Amino acid sequence: MERLRGRLSKSRSALGQGLLGLLGAGDLDEDSWQDVEDTLLLADLGAATTTEIVERLRTEMATRAVRTSADARALLREVLIDTLGADTDRAVRALPHTGPEGRKQPAVVLVAGVNGTGKTTTTGKLARVLVAQGRQVLLGAADTFRAAAAEQLQTWSERVGAEVVRGKEGADPASVAFDAVKRGIDSGVDAVLVDTAGRLHTKTGLMDELGKVKRVVEKQAEVDEVLLVLDATTGQNGLAQARVFSEVVDVTGIALTKLDGTAKGGIVFQVQRELGVPVKLVGLGEGPDDLAPFEPSAFVDALLD
Ligand code: GDP
Repeated sequence: MERLRGRLSKSRSALGQGLLGLLGAGDLDEDSWQDVEDTLLLADLGAATTTEIVERLRTEMATRAVRTSADARALLREVLIDTLGADTDRAVRALPHTGPEGRKQPAVVLVAGVNGTGKTTTTGKLARVLVAQGRQVLLGAADTFRAAAAEQLQTWSERVGAEVVRGKEGADPASVAFDAVKRGIDSGVDAVLVDTAGRLHTKTGLMDELGKVKRVVEKQAEVDEVLLVLDATTGQNGLAQARVFSEVVDVTGIALTKLDGTAKGGIVFQVQRELGVPVKLVGLGEGPDDLAPFEPSAFVDALLD
């Protein structure tokens, strides 16, 4: 909790403290409501989510007769947690299960996203989390377009104690993904995490690459999770990327990276509200332990405390 709070310090001062300062004064005039709206917009909550939150706060402030800053904090906490949808299932599906032929099948997780968002780093960090839970993990380096990606994943594999399957540079990403999953099944690991290629020039191009990776993997195993990695600092651009990916594959969860060092942590709310896919993981730094499961109440508390 302390750690999350520390990593979110920029968003905490811009968003959390900003809102608490405005609402804690009680009895807000139109200018102050405008300031509330601006604070939400500046933190990247987006127009629709901002309007929704402001309307709810206005109604509740009036009906509940919020007087003290403690009342304001409790109300804000409730509204923000509700906006994130506390009930959504956010567990990453990384447990082995019985496959189509009645054999134990490793959980298969495809990690997708545009280059630079933190895809390879997130794959490595997720492996670390699973290995720390006592699971055997195999990494598939199917991002064969970015020259350094396989090398980077190899380094992660050594760091976290997970085997890695690599293809030659420029090899077909789908064939590397297929080989990785095959090796995972044959060696009986618990989870195979596949770092996929992150080129997004056209929707058709993406469909050819990522869609093919998924189809080819599905020839031998179920895909349990398609995690889309989004960079929190890219705002609307990130949301646009997510929409394109969702049209191509069934995205089951979002990993939102680089929340440390940005005052625009409000993007979490927008992603959650507008994409209809749960945020499952948050990236809070470049280190191996800087990936956390996303928990709405802990996140909101870190913003407000
Ligand atoms: P990819 O091209 O999407 O595979 O991106 P990389 O995994 O290579 O990451 C791009 C850069 O972002 C690297 O310098 C990472 O260390 C950095 N990065 C990834 N996740 C985070 C994060 O949560 N916080 C911060 N501050 N940097 C991150």
